[in-house]
Parts: sequence; structure tokens; C-alpha cells
Amino acid sequence: MSDCIFCKIASGEAKARIVLDDGDLVAFLDLNPQAPTHVLIVPKKHIAKLSDAVPEDEAMLGRIQLAAAKIAAQMGIGDGFRLVVNNGRKAGQAVDHLHYHLLGGRRLQWPPG
Ligand code: AMP
Ligand code: ZN
Repeated sequence: MSDCIFCKIASGEAKARIVLDDGDLVAFLDLNPQAPTHVLIVPKKHIAKLSDAVPEDEAMLGRIQLAAAKIAAQMGIGDGFRLVVNNGRKAGQAVDHLHYHLLGGRRLQWPPG
């Protein structure tokens, strides 16, 4: 999608601090980190939100979770991290391209706000 910042990061048109690029997905540091480690993992395919994903996205969604665990281990937070998806404005989603927040490096409270 031409006007989507995460599509632009995925295609290399916009800059980001990339930590993983595996073909179908890309992971990069969040610009406004909410924890010492805060990575965003996004599919390269434009999907506005998780509830718009379709059965053909199943493998890619699974790959994102495996990538999250791998990135967490590589970034030294393998012993305690959180993977979060905000789905829709009411849940705090601000960027309309599916993204998973990988957070760690501090004690994370529960329940989230
Ligand atoms: P959400 O509120 O779940 O939609 O999260 C959007 C996240 O994207 C926020 O944590 C922002 O800090 C982050 N963000 C927005 N634009 C960029 C960007 N260009 N590069 C990296 N992170 C971004
Ligand atoms: Zn997009």
C-alpha cells in the first residue's frame, strides 16, 4: 500500500533499524520504545489488522511467532518477553498495518492497561 509507513519500511523505501528480514516478514526497532527492547515484527504483505488476516496468512502468522522467539533470544530477552498485537483503535492500534510488538528488558506488569 503506497501510503503505509510499514509497507515503506518493508520495501526499504523508508528507513528503520532492521533486526531481521526473512523475505515474508521484517522486524525493526520501535521509534518510541516502551521497554529497553522494543521490536516491531510485520508481514511484508499489507494486512491492516489481525482481524483482516485470512487462512492463506496462517503460515506467515506462525512464522512471526517463531521469529519473535528467535529475536528475543538474540537480543538477550529470551527469559522474559511479551508479544502484543493491538487490534483496532479501541485497543490502541495507531498504524494500520499488522504489527507485533516484542517487548522485554524490564519487568512487565499484568494486566496491561
Ligand atoms: P500501535 O499503537 O500498536 O499501532 O503501534 C504502532 C507503533 O509503531 C508505535 O509503538 C510507534 O512508536 C511505532 N512506529 C510508528 N512509526 C514508526 C516508524 N517509522 N519506525 C518505527 N516505529 C514506528
Ligand atoms: Zn502496509
